[in-house]
Amino acid sequence: RAKTDGRDQVVVFDDALRAETVARRDLQIMLRRAIDRDELRLHYQPEIDLHTGAILGVEALVRWQHPRHGLLPADAFIEVAESSGMILDIGRWVMVEASRQAAEWHERIPGLDAVVRVNVSPLQLRNRDLLHTLAQCRAHGPLRGRLSLELTEHAVLQDVDHAVSVIREVRNLGVSVALDDFGTGQSSLSQLKRLPVDFLKIDRSFVRDLGTDPADRAVVDAMADLARAFDLSLIAEGIETHRHIAQLLEVGCRRGQGFLFSHPRPAHDLDPMLADGALPLPTRSRRT
Ligand code: C2E
Ligand code: MG
Ligand code: MG
Ligand code: MG
Repeated sequence: RAKTDGRDQVVVFDDALRAETVARRDLQIMLRRAIDRDELRLHYQPEIDLHTGAILGVEALVRWQHPRHGLLPADAFIEVAESSGMILDIGRWVMVEASRQAAEWHERIPGLDAVVRVNVSPLQLRNRDLLHTLAQCRAHGPLRGRLSLELTEHAVLQDVDHAVSVIREVRNLGVSVALDDFGTGQSSLSQLKRLPVDFLKIDRSFVRDLGTDPADRAVVDAMADLARAFDLSLIAEGIETHRHIAQLLEVGCRRGQGFLFSHPRPAHDLDPMLADGALPLPTRSRRT
């Protein structure tokens, strides 16, 4: 009987391994079909003027409506998409869908002054296909003042010369560019100076402890100085408390996004806010 027990253990271990391998391959195969099966969604998170509550933009964030696992956040599949190259197809879909949505909002809401921001992956940036996709997006309507791209600091640093030339072409189309996850990629000041971007997005890891960690306050202060020196707009992400807002306004950052204002939501949920042009600023509570 001891033999059988031993074999059973081996079998259990084998099954676990196999399950993991199957899960990963399953993920890849399913993700590959996700676009055709219409399982990808975009959720949008508003970006607001921290003084007035005016909505200045919305960030498109991809979601996967998985047939078995439900709605998956980007974090759950972006890495697999990137390493397998599928991000090129997904990114193309995201950009076309986001610009379609932007055109729809701008047609329906006259005077709307909010830009739709789209995240671009490192592979998409390396691949010049990005510019063809933008040309395709123009079929839905003008992009100027409606679309903005977010490139991570990390992606840009992989090849600064290439990034600079792509950013120039993108901005020639009237599409603004933000440097995302700023502060996590260790770009040098001389590299930053060369980048013709319009916005810096402070990574939320620096916002989280604003008001409790003096070091983070100093870092964000320095970012604000840098933004002023280079004539860039600063956007804070991950705003969760009133203390975050107070600290950001103190250093001179007056635009941002975060769960305090709104989680990312399906487009139609944002219709009323976009029509109003502003979010009611959440009321301050003692705890935050
Ligand atoms: P990111 O571009 O820095 O996006 C912000 C992430 O922070 C989002 O997570 C958002 O849901 C989350 N977030 C927003 N406000 C708060 C807050 O107050 N607190 C906290 N804790 N989190 C907040 P999500 O949607 O899971 O996306 C994660 C990352 O995946 C994004 O980081 C972006 O790098 C990538 N991603 C998302 N959508 C796309 C896409 O369409 N294409 C590409 N290439 N990457 C995408
Ligand atoms: Mg982003
Ligand atoms: Mg970010
Ligand atoms: Mg981030």
